[in-house]
Amino acid sequence: MLFKYNFVNHDAEIMQKLIEHIVLDVWCNAKGKNFNLNKIKEEDNFRKIVRTKRILLKKHIHEIFKLCSKLNDLQLTYIRDAFNANNNIEALCINTVNPVFYDDLSSEISPLFAKKIKVFFNNLYEKVFNQQPFYINKHYDEFFQSNQAICPFCGLVSLQKNSLVHREAYDHYLPKEKYPFNTVNLKNLLPMCSKCNEFYKKTKDPLFDTNRKKAFFYFGNNPEFNIKINIMKSSADDFELELSFISSVMQEEVDTWNRLFELDERYRTDFFYADNFGATILNHWYSCSKRDAEYVKNEMYLFEQNQCKDKNFLRKALLEACINQEIFNDDLENI
Ligand SMILES: [Zn+2]
Repeated sequence: MLFKYNFVNHDAEIMQKLIEHIVLDVWCNAKGKNFNLNKIKEEDNFRKIVRTKRILLKKHIHEIFKLCSKLNDLQLTYIRDAFNANNNIEALCINTVNPVFYDDLSSEISPLFAKKIKVFFNNLYEKVFNQQPFYINKHYDEFFQSNQAICPFCGLVSLQKNSLVHREAYDHYLPKEKYPFNTVNLKNLLPMCSKCNEFYKKTKDPLFDTNRKKAFFYFGNNPEFNIKINIMKSSADDFELELSFISSVMQEEVDTWNRLFELDERYRTDFFYADNFGATILNHWYSCSKRDAEYVKNEMYLFEQNQCKDKNFLRKALLEACINQEIFNDDLENI
């Protein structure tokens, strides 16, 4: 990620708190019991919310309760641990907790239980989340009052700030088809540009490639890495560079980020090679640096002041490569 997101407290979190109560206090204590609405606590209006959403909530909660009432203590403990693990998004990202998959629920509890949990949670996200009292669209608008409206996954695209016009999709960072219990956890829901979402990340899993991986937690610390460019050909009609991401403290997270969003290739084709932009800007810097010795220093200062604006982080990386490779000391055509 180029920068972290600021977490925004909002009424949409009530959904996660309600679900935590249903799973841990209601379902996990269902052994040998019959369901009635009194099992759901009155505080925070939880009972009222469930009562008023009879088809979307109460019916499913009742059905899953009936399955849980027949489970043994070990199985109920498994469900409790799975819920807690899959909602600790930060620990999953830094690889201090192991996740649970729908396939695990299927084998440890039953295929029917796994199927009903998936239907229930997907319904919550798709049909209930923008109803009162949650209003995910209002969360979106408030989110962008506290966050800059640039996609932190690519840095190439501006994000729509107002849901009345149009809103970007929330990406389930840990894919909702694979991971149970965290579908409405706002720490797993990240506004993302449509290009990153639909063409690159899709349903890729941050936590697994061929084996378990660390991934950026988008509400955690700011990332520390450098984009290193090697200019191989620098003439206007034959411009070529290679690009890599280097970090001394979070290389695995950076590699995951690049795997999910294919950034090395996108930065080359969508930015440096698009309309021959890299060669054009390089020639511009070259001619200016010949006229004014201070020019390069000033350009670098401007890029460093606001790296997210106008894709300055990429201009900065290219300028650093020019300096390291002493391009401004040479004849461009002969590099
Ligand atoms: Zn993006």
